Amino acid sequence: MDFKIYNTLTKKVEIFKPVKQGVVGIYACGPTVYDLTHIGHMRKYTMDDILKRTLTYLGYEVKHVMNITDVGHLASDADEGDDKLEKGALKSGKSVWDVASQYTDYFFNTTDALNIIRPDVTPRATDHIGQIITMINKLLASKHAYVTQKAIYFDTNTYPNYGMLSGQNIADKQVGVRGEVVTDPDKRHPTDFALWFFCVGHFENHTMRWASPVGENDGFPGWHIECSAMSMHYLGDQIDIHTGGIDHIPVHHENEIAQSMCAHHYNNNEQFVNYWLHYDFLTVDGEKMSKSKNNFYTLDNVRSHQINPLALRLYFMGTSYRKPLNFTWEGAMSANNMYTKIITQAMNLQSGLQSNLASHKSDLWLVDEKYVNDFKQALCDDLNTARALAVVFEMLADKNINDADKYTTLIDMDKVLGLDIEKVVLALSGNISNNIIELAEKRKLAKEIKNYKLADDLRAEIETLGYEVIDTTTDGQDSYKIIKKL
Ligand SMILES: [Zn+2]
Repeated sequence: MDFKIYNTLTKKVEIFKPVKQGVVGIYACGPTVYDLTHIGHMRKYTMDDILKRTLTYLGYEVKHVMNITDVGHLASDADEGDDKLEKGALKSGKSVWDVASQYTDYFFNTTDALNIIRPDVTPRATDHIGQIITMINKLLASKHAYVTQKAIYFDTNTYPNYGMLSGQNIADKQVGVRGEVVTDPDKRHPTDFALWFFCVGHFENHTMRWASPVGENDGFPGWHIECSAMSMHYLGDQIDIHTGGIDHIPVHHENEIAQSMCAHHYNNNEQFVNYWLHYDFLTVDGEKMSKSKNNFYTLDNVRSHQINPLALRLYFMGTSYRKPLNFTWEGAMSANNMYTKIITQAMNLQSGLQSNLASHKSDLWLVDEKYVNDFKQALCDDLNTARALAVVFEMLADKNINDADKYTTLIDMDKVLGLDIEKVVLALSGNISNNIIELAEKRKLAKEIKNYKLADDLRAEIETLGYEVIDTTTDGQDSYKIIKKL
């Protein structure tokens, strides 16, 4: 089944083709860790998670890299104002390093609560200054960058395709940013952006500092360069999918493309990133949820409204990622009701199965191919999560499927939904998961065919999962009992 996705670069829904067959590299722009993350951010990271889970479900091997910005992101994305981390440190009276570590922990606590699988690699900008400097040196050597008293800038006029992502030509873009305060008179064009700031003038007392690629003064990297340096370091020169919020299209991602394309030699038709994926905002009263507008809600606010954080996943999935989603507490509450409904039904299905354990046959417990296929079709259609959810409910309501298959199908679909259904059901009911029962059944079979080595291996596997199998005899027949290890 072809996976189709809207590519901001071509402005079309395209059939996804990875650079290397069967493998997908995803680079997701990550958080700037200077303050509490909020659920507006979580819409983006949940969609990254759904994207990753979908590709895995379709059989791809996924490598997911997400950066952590802990230096160089100024108050404005366009090189103006203070460094957000330094500002956060000043506000809290802590060191920049403590601020970064505290809010990184808060970020991951939040994503864990939403059952967002942690990326395979989460590189921090401050750990990759070497890679950043190497890239800046390449750009200086090839005259795509120039040095002023204050900074090293990328010269946007040296890259003819600058503006291709947002669809604006460079002249229009320069008019667009001309009104902004330019603090460096030696900057050549308004669209040029800083690759590196020197610790002079306004930044004289900047705490985080390193030896600069040129000159005597210490300095620190600009924001955009970290994503180019780290994405290529971990995923190679050609990246399959790069994600971000729609606010990254005109500046951050445009700049990433320019510096990556100029720092490397690409053949004709080769791109730094093949598919650019952008998520629309979570809004409050029609405005983007953000720190600067002070209209944001955190995980703690969600919990204090008695809403299960996992229900937010259902809330986000109800709307296309390409449309804004207006957050209301009523909306969150109805997602919470939907979540409770799914868990309740899953518990009923599961307890029915447990009481019929004696008649359990391994030809039961099958996924329903038709519904799984419909579910995949929906996800393959530009991640149509709303339709995928509709398929889940249709399947749960279908009277023609037996309970065992229904439960198995739901648990299978949950690999993408990420509601942690089986774990929640088992925790609430104290029952034993299908997976353990399957292993025990296999072990019984292995004993019957006298493959004792396999039987022992299966027993060991069950034990590592926290259970023990005890052999029994029922009516003269060999049987077994599974108990949870204390
Ligand atoms: Zn980025």
